[in-house]
Amino acid sequence: MAKRRKFVYHGHHGIEGQEAACLWCGKPTASHEYVVNPGGDPVLKCCCEEHFESTVSFVNHDARMRPLFYVAVGLCAIASWIAIAFLDFQPVWTPMPFVALSAVILIWPRVLPRYEYYLPLGLVKTRKIVRAIALVALVFSLYVAGVRLGVLPG
Ligand SMILES: [Zn+2]
Repeated sequence: MAKRRKFVYHGHHGIEGQEAACLWCGKPTASHEYVVNPGGDPVLKCCCEEHFESTVSFVNHDARMRPLFYVAVGLCAIASWIAIAFLDFQPVWTPMPFVALSAVILIWPRVLPRYEYYLPLGLVKTRKIVRAIALVALVFSLYVAGVRLGVLPG
């Protein structure tokens, strides 16, 4: 009997010959040539060399940038807390950390902590969706800030 696997993603285990989603574009692929994490579970693989290289450079870049991203998000959270706790009398500043947080996520849409979370749609589409949400949040928080600053009508 096959060893039980901890993770099952849409029934795809990444076993040779089985279809699984390309981590980059999300298209199902039966190819087993471009595995990002050999021996990993679940296996993260790509449909072609181009997507494999894009994914590997994303993962390498992500590993380097992730601590910075968390520091930036942490600073926004602290700034937001300070703004809410201490700047009650200047509500103009309370949306500002949210503006910064939205901008950070818009620039670095790397909110998902595990690569397999990108599998259902692929890296490209998932990042687009995260960016779209961050953009809406940014526009909204800028609008709130604009109203409070008296630049925009409330
Ligand atoms: Zn692909």
